Amino acid sequence: MPLYEYRCGTCGKSFEQLRRMQDADRDLECPECKSREVERQLSTFSSGGCGSGGGSGRFT
Ligand SMILES: [Zn+2]
Repeated sequence: MPLYEYRCGTCGKSFEQLRRMQDADRDLECPECKSREVERQLSTFSSGGCGSGGGSGRFT
C-alpha cells in the first residue's frame, strides 16, 4: 500500500495516509479539523526515476 500525502485546504495541516491505490482519491477528512477539503499531494516515494535528466551534480 502506498503512502499518500494530503493537505487540508481548511487548516493547512498536512498528513500522510496509507491507502490503497483505488482509495487514494476517495473522500477523506482532515484529522485536525475534520474538513473534507483535503487535497492529495504528489507522493514523494521514489519508484522508477527513469526519464529526463536526473542529473545531480552536473556542473562543468
Ligand atoms: Zn484541517
